[in-house]
Amino acid sequence: MHYPLATTNRRNILCIFPAYTPSFGTFSHAYRLLPRVRAFMPPQGLLIIAAYLPPTWPVRFVDENLARASGADFTWADVVLVSGMHIQAPKIHDIARRAKAAGKTVVLGGASVSGAPELYREFDYLHIGEIGDATDRLIACLDNSVAPPVTQIRFETHERLPLPQFPLPAYDLIQFDRYLIGSLQFSSGCPYLCEFCDIPALYGRQPRLKTPKQITAELDAMLARPGHPPVVYFVDDNFIGNRKAAREMLPHLIAWQRKNAYPLRFACEATLNLAKQTEILVLMREAQFHLVFVGIETPEADALKAMRKEHNSALPMMEAIRTLNRYGLEVTSGIILGLDTDTADSEGHLKTFIDLSQIPVLTINLLQALPRTPLWDRLKRDDRLIEDDAGLESNVRFLRPYDEVVSTWQRCIAYAYDPERLFARFAHQVDETYSHRMVVPARGRLTARNLREAVVVGFNVLLWIGLLSDYRRSFWRAVRLALSRGQIDAAIGMGLVAYHLIHFTREALRGEQNAYFYSARARPNALGRFHEKKASSAA
Ligand code: SF4
Repeated sequence: MHYPLATTNRRNILCIFPAYTPSFGTFSHAYRLLPRVRAFMPPQGLLIIAAYLPPTWPVRFVDENLARASGADFTWADVVLVSGMHIQAPKIHDIARRAKAAGKTVVLGGASVSGAPELYREFDYLHIGEIGDATDRLIACLDNSVAPPVTQIRFETHERLPLPQFPLPAYDLIQFDRYLIGSLQFSSGCPYLCEFCDIPALYGRQPRLKTPKQITAELDAMLARPGHPPVVYFVDDNFIGNRKAAREMLPHLIAWQRKNAYPLRFACEATLNLAKQTEILVLMREAQFHLVFVGIETPEADALKAMRKEHNSALPMMEAIRTLNRYGLEVTSGIILGLDTDTADSEGHLKTFIDLSQIPVLTINLLQALPRTPLWDRLKRDDRLIEDDAGLESNVRFLRPYDEVVSTWQRCIAYAYDPERLFARFAHQVDETYSHRMVVPARGRLTARNLREAVVVGFNVLLWIGLLSDYRRSFWRAVRLALSRGQIDAAIGMGLVAYHLIHFTREALRGEQNAYFYSARARPNALGRFHEKKASSAA
C-alpha cells in the first residue's frame, strides 16, 4: 500500500543508499568477472519506503554502490532520504554533507539511526524504527513544508505497518541487472536473544510475516525485470524464526517455481537447528534453496553458552552441517573472534572446525559491540567500550591482548582462504552437497541473455582463474570433479566465489581491508555484507 492520506503538495524525493565497506560476504572482487554486475543486492528497506511514498511524489533512487548521486540529482530534489546500517555511517555523514551543501532538507531512516540516533545530529529529520506511524507523520510534515526545521525533529515508530500491508519494493526504480543477487523479505524479527545481536531489540522477538501471496507477487515483479539476478536471498533475520509460517509458505514457493519452470534459486539465513526440521528441509530442497547462512559464531560450546546461543548446540554441530548438506544446502558460516571466552587454544579449535565442517565460505570477523544489544550494555558497565575512533579494528576492549586477537584473525583467514584448502572444501561439496540438489528443468533460465552471459562469465573464469592465477592447479582439481558430475553452474560458482575470497584475504593480510565490517577503519567506496537491514552476524 501507499501512504493512505491525501497530500496537497508535490515533492521531489531523492532516495540515496550509501556505499558499503568491503567484506568477505559480498564477493565484490568477482564483479570484474561478471559482465554487468557492480553491486551485491538491492536495498530492500529503502525500496519499500520509496514504494510507500505518495504516488504523486516523483522519486529518484540512487544506490551509491553503483554510482554517486550527481549534482543534478541534488538540484532536482526537494528532500533527500537516506537509509543505512552502522557500517555505512561514514558514507551516511558524507551524503548529509553533500545534501546540505546543495541546500536540501535531509532525512535519515534505517537500522543505524534506529540503533544510535545520537550519531546523526546533522540530519533535519530522523526516522527511528520500522515503516509505520512515524513514516506517516514524516510524510505529512514534508507535505506541509520542505524547509529545513530550526532544530532536528525525530519521528519514532510506535505502530509498525503490518507486513501484509507492505507495498511491493519499488523495483522499477533500480537497474536490477547490476546486482549479483536479488533480495526478498518474508519475515522480520527473531525469537532468540544472542548477546551481540541487535535484531531482537530493533525488530522484535515475535517474527512478523508477509503472506505467501505477497512473496509470489514480489517474485513475479522480479521476473518481469530484464536481467534479474538468478539467485534471490531471503533477508529474513531467521528464516525459521516462525517454523509453522515457513512450512506453510514453502509450498507456494514450490508451486511458483514449477509454474515458471524454475527460473530462480534461493538462499536464506537461519539458525543451525534448521537441521532438525526435516519437513522444512524437504520443502526447501524442492523450492531450490541452495545456500543457507548460519551464524555458527564459534565451535566452542562454552562460548556459545556465554553469548546465549545455545540453540547452535541443539544437535552436534558437524551432524547438523552434514544434514543441511544432504538436502543440497551449502552452509556459509559467520565466525566471531575476540570473544571473552577465547583462549590460546581457540585458533586451533577454529582451524579444526574449518577442516571438519568443510564449509567453503566463512565470514571470520572480530567481535564488535552494537548499540541496543546486551553485549553493548555489559561492556559499557565494565568500561570496555572504545567509543572514540581510535583507528582500531573493533570497539571492544578484548580480554586478550589486542595485537594477539588481530594476529589470530589474520592467521585464521590465511588458513581458511589458502587456495588449496578452499578448493578442497569446494570439492567436498560436489558429492556431499551439490549432488543432493533436486534436478529441475533448465527451461526457466535458458534465455538468450542468460546464455550469452554464461559464455562471457565462463570465459572470464577460465582465463583469470583457470589460466592466469597462481592457484589454478587447486581450482582445476575441484572444477574437474564438478564437471565430471555435470555440475557446470557449481564449477563456475566456486571459481567466482573463490576468486573474491582469495583476493580479499590477500588484501586483508596486506592491511588493505579491516577485520570487521563495522570497524572504525572501514574504508569508503566499498561494498558490504548481506543487506541493509542486517546489523550483525545474525541467525
Ligand atoms: S544472531 Fe541470529 S539467532 Fe541470534 S538473535 Fe540475532 S538473528 Fe536471532
